[in-house]
Amino acid sequence: MINENEIFDNLSKTQKADKQQILDILTQARELKGISFEQTAALLNLTDKDLLEELYKTAKYIKTEIYGNRLVLFAPLYISNVCFNECLYCAFRASNKDLHRKALNQDEVKNETSALLKQGHKRILMVAGESYTGAGLKYVFDSIDSIYSVREGKNNIRRVNVNIAPLTLEEFKELKKHNIGTFQLFQETYHKDTYHKMHVAGKKADYEFRLMGMHRALEAGLNDVGIGALLGLYDYKFEVLAMLQHIKDLEDKFGIGPHTISVPRIEPACGSPLSEHPPYAVNDEDFKKIIAVLRIAVPYTGIILSTRENAQMRRDAFELGISQISGGSKTNPGGYEDDNADEQFTRGDHRSLEAVISDIVDHGYIPSFCTGCYRLGRVGKDFMDLAKPGLIKAHCLPNAMFTFAEYLYDFASPELKAKGLALIDKMMKDLPPSRAAQTKANLEKVAQGERDIYF
Ligand code: SAM
Ligand code: SF4
Repeated sequence: MINENEIFDNLSKTQKADKQQILDILTQARELKGISFEQTAALLNLTDKDLLEELYKTAKYIKTEIYGNRLVLFAPLYISNVCFNECLYCAFRASNKDLHRKALNQDEVKNETSALLKQGHKRILMVAGESYTGAGLKYVFDSIDSIYSVREGKNNIRRVNVNIAPLTLEEFKELKKHNIGTFQLFQETYHKDTYHKMHVAGKKADYEFRLMGMHRALEAGLNDVGIGALLGLYDYKFEVLAMLQHIKDLEDKFGIGPHTISVPRIEPACGSPLSEHPPYAVNDEDFKKIIAVLRIAVPYTGIILSTRENAQMRRDAFELGISQISGGSKTNPGGYEDDNADEQFTRGDHRSLEAVISDIVDHGYIPSFCTGCYRLGRVGKDFMDLAKPGLIKAHCLPNAMFTFAEYLYDFASPELKAKGLALIDKMMKDLPPSRAAQTKANLEKVAQGERDIYF
């Protein structure tokens, strides 16, 4: 599936692509059908400032055409930082004696969930170190059930995505019974030699087992998977092209690609010297290029930006194609209730959810807590079929408006409420005419106290 020679060949033969070739690729990209592997390599090789500007404009065009100005919000919930693996970049790695270890018990998982619900969150990404095997996996399943069980007034978590180690086929089948949303797993690096250097002990040292994780997940019947590479371990151009090979193989075998792609950059982590000086650190300009190229190459796949990036980079990245972000996040087990436990890495953004949302609104984006698609079974291939003809806007924009209105009535300060409702009002003109009347009526119902309305 990962053909290193094909990647290096394409990167080398497109190094001297001329201006007209690049402009032709960008014109083709505006048809929203993606571009070829070789064309993607040519864009990754870009260094000319004017052409990079053209690349960014194209990515912005695609992002606006398909996703409008919505940004889906979620929060990570770290249940355990106990881990048997030795990933050289991570604070949770087994031999790190500097880290205070904690695995939340089920009451603590519920308390964390309550704290997130009180902030206004509806979607959680549950994260854990890999310390469970066999029966230990029950801990993960119990935690998912605990999160779904919590109620805070009218509010509950409507979707739990998980970021845990890859499972066997049978274990994935068990996981499916717990009603998760997306199964997220980052290959970290697709470059095999680098992978082995970075993962020196534990189950994660098995490159193939991890690489085939998404295949097993889809084979087991999970609806959505999310891939990613940890940027900074190896050449980013290689990683982006390898992700495209991964996607192609999933599409060929299962008829669907990943629901999301994540683009985490390595951040400094306690007890991890490598994380302070990543071997292939990605600078801000290259990071923006990566997001723009991905937006162009796979226009219908969501791109997630995490809590790792600072506020300015997050704003730049939204324009280029990011469709999901975390907000008000903590990366330590128990961090929402008590801020003393050690974090997985240094977060670039320490603002509360309210501050993040306020900033998003100031920049004209509408935060969405929508989970409508999963609840209506519009997942996997059905979601892709809906997304591809550009219908996302007819469902997702009104659903974003409903869930944002819920947030404003239930959690926002008076100031944020006023400017948020003004934004919703302004967005009415962007709705397809067929949706306008019903959307208006539904917004009225939300104002009257009805919750969880979606198309
Ligand atoms: N233990 C599971 C695994 O490794 O797949 C899942 C949880 S792990 C905490 C989630 C992700 O954190 C990893 O896949 C890795 O990409 C990311 N991560 C680890 N160390 C990091 C660092 N120093 N900076 C940014 N992200 C990091
Ligand atoms: Fe453990 Fe995951 Fe961190 Fe590796 S990245 S040390 S597997 S928590």
